[in-house]
Amino acid sequence: MNKNSSNIMALAPNTSNKRETVCIFGTGDFGRALGHKMIHSGYPVVYGSRSPQISNLIPKDAEVLGHAEAAQKAAIIIIAIQRQHYNFLIPLAEVLRGKVLVDISNNLKLNQYPESNAEHLAQLLPGSKVVKAFNTVSAWALQSGTLDASRQVFVCGDDVEAKQMVMNIVRALGLTPLDKGSLLAAQEIENYPLQLFPMWKFPMFLSLGLTAFFFFYCLALDVIYTYIYEKNNFSFFIAITIPNRVCPVMALILLALVYLPGIFAAIIQLYRGTKYRRFPDWLDKWMLCRKQLGLIALAFASLHVVFTLVTPMRAFVSWRTSKGIIAQALNNKTEPLNNTNAWLSDSYLALGILGYFLFVLLGITSLPSVSNNVNWREFRFVQSKLGYLALILCTAHTLVYGGKWFLSPSAYKWYLPNIYILSLIVPCAVLVVKFVLIFPCVDKPLTQIRQGWERNPKYSE
Ligand code: NAP
Repeated sequence: MNKNSSNIMALAPNTSNKRETVCIFGTGDFGRALGHKMIHSGYPVVYGSRSPQISNLIPKDAEVLGHAEAAQKAAIIIIAIQRQHYNFLIPLAEVLRGKVLVDISNNLKLNQYPESNAEHLAQLLPGSKVVKAFNTVSAWALQSGTLDASRQVFVCGDDVEAKQMVMNIVRALGLTPLDKGSLLAAQEIENYPLQLFPMWKFPMFLSLGLTAFFFFYCLALDVIYTYIYEKNNFSFFIAITIPNRVCPVMALILLALVYLPGIFAAIIQLYRGTKYRRFPDWLDKWMLCRKQLGLIALAFASLHVVFTLVTPMRAFVSWRTSKGIIAQALNNKTEPLNNTNAWLSDSYLALGILGYFLFVLLGITSLPSVSNNVNWREFRFVQSKLGYLALILCTAHTLVYGGKWFLSPSAYKWYLPNIYILSLIVPCAVLVVKFVLIFPCVDKPLTQIRQGWERNPKYSE
């Protein structure tokens, strides 16, 4: 068949229900897995291989031919071959002219080559239309059908029609294409499978570091100090008491750290008198991982709730309660209800419950399935206004809990403050500065700056 006519024919939109033939170069793990999936979805598949004989592993309905012959049978050719072998495609340039070449390759290291594999392929074969796709899906997931975690397929390419054709195949395979734009995006798409929770790294390390610090801090004050000076062995505190002190402290500090970068950003913008200068890198990175910080904070808050709910079941607590009752019986005296204490404990619980409720609401609205269904204003209302309210309630919860003994000298073992006092530093600082920022004399210029006003405009009209 005439090469050019076959190209034009295959690129024309398919008006019948019959699927167009797809060619796959390479009969390796990925080529075979994708071929199986395509045949199940109704695509005739032809393989281009160095050894065009059918093996047991190749889907039985597929044809296996030499590369040039196979390429002539389809308008779309999936290159299921490692980048280092791409040079073998150069002699096939004429056969591949006008065809859509799908680059599915990955690298072993981030930014392994100066240009992406897809751009390299496009440079080798300038007459073809290169589209990047499928690299984020694994051969195993395709074959086993366990695509729940990775249904999304990033697609990019310079030719809109070619990209559409590939996205149609992606959809037909039951996957979700996500258009990432031109071929320039290929580098980012190729780096994607090599990244391990990139946005979670800083929040995770920070949380681990702070958790370890507060755990050992409590261990020193609540277990070691008590053992040395009071001869009490409270080592079992390690199981529930200490985690139930560390978790709320972590939840509160991390929630405050979600709002702290916004405060820094406002101060920087006020100081510079413009929003058109970039924030320092550390602040940019911090702002980008606020959602992750918030979700980790929510996890700590949830653990605190569970630890608190099991409190009545603890042997230590029932021993302490019965000790109090026996002491009253022995003294033949019933302690009257302390109204102030009752108020404090009920208010502390109520503040905690309300704070946790808002915390959960913030967590739910940060889920993409929910945030995609609210507009920007609604999202900001929940994340900013209700977020600050959650921070106020949680800070008040801690203040009411520890307020009465924060100033007592017995709370300062080894002259060190209790961790509840430490936990209040960042949230109180955030709330105080935020309070100052909402004063009209500060809020007005800040709003103007955020709307584009500049104190010393660089380009005057
Ligand atoms: P593979 O099992 O090593 O297979 C690659 C195929 O390339 C071979 O079976 C061979 O097919 C062909 N080939 C090897 N050397 C060649 C050469 N010198 N010249 C021409 N063809 C050659 O690799 P794979 O796991 O299928 O991966 C293929 C591509 O898909 C890679 O770029 C990889 O990054 C990407 N990918 C893989 C996965 C995965 O889960 N495996 C996931 C996403 C993306 P013939 O013998 O038929 O010629």
